Amino acid sequence: MRSTRQFGRLGLPAIVIHGGAGTFPDLSEEESALLLEALGTAREAGWEVLERGGSAYDAVVEAVASLEDSGRFNAGRGAVPTDDGAVEFDAGVMDAATGAVGALCAATYPANPVRAARAVAAVGGVPDGPVLLAGAGADDFCAKAGLEAMRPQWLTKGAGRAGPPSALSKEGTVGAVAVDRGGQVAAATSTGGRSGQRRGRVGDSPIPGAGVLAHRCGVAVSATGAGEAFLVAGFSHRVAWERQAGRPLHEAVEAALSAVGELGGTGGAVALSDAGEFVASFTTPAMARAWRGEGAREAYLLPG
Ligand code: ASP
Repeated sequence: MRSTRQFGRLGLPAIVIHGGAGTFPDLSEEESALLLEALGTAREAGWEVLERGGSAYDAVVEAVASLEDSGRFNAGRGAVPTDDGAVEFDAGVMDAATGAVGALCAATYPANPVRAARAVAAVGGVPDGPVLLAGAGADDFCAKAGLEAMRPQWLTKGAGRAGPPSALSKEGTVGAVAVDRGGQVAAATSTGGRSGQRRGRVGDSPIPGAGVLAHRCGVAVSATGAGEAFLVAGFSHRVAWERQAGRPLHEAVEAALSAVGELGGTGGAVALSDAGEFVASFTTPAMARAWRGEGAREAYLLPG
């Protein structure tokens, strides 16, 4: 399967983010510029954390929260509606340094699903859980944890809502991977799912080992694309396994994308190693992506 890939070494610390894989059809020049601006703002939010010596975990949460708040991607304020006009959020976080892992899916409550996933991680994790909270239970947890609630007027899509700014991308699941000065990696992914999806449908995005992973072997992954194929392929685990088998990171991502392709799915991912090697790869026509390391600062929408 044909893929576009960019890879290399960013060193420590570093952050790589994405704003979804797809086609980004009919975007005007101005709209493309707005998407790139929102990507840049999120990347810098994560980079600031890393630059002042903060953790990769804090960096990925801040970067993804910024993408959610921008309203320009399919996550948080810009999340796309389900077939009956509801807006449901899925998000997952993972921190290799502490083993923290948390996620929620089909939730409607949180203003920042990524912060809610982190709150789940703070009270749960492996082996005793919870790792993943769904639907009404997730909403109840968020309310009791005192997390900020999403306000209907903040949503840029769904149920006839039209708050500013407009969500430019219905493909734009968002995610981030980071490595901090201490060589620890973390990952976060957040989405509104697939546009018009059946209510209650959940894809790969919040699932550790599928759409999000920070593995203690020193690899962090955040995926985007045809969620069912990424889920069934165990996408992010596959990247970690290939890596542990000694393959270079870009080959590990490629092998995992091939497994998704064998299931009929397309999409992409960003990945980082604890040595500061990065990959941004996709089998769709485009993927919004940006990264920063010492001496490198880039953002792209199209193959580039
Ligand atoms: N993977 C997401 C999902 O299936 C969608 C996407 O990344 O575009 O929910």
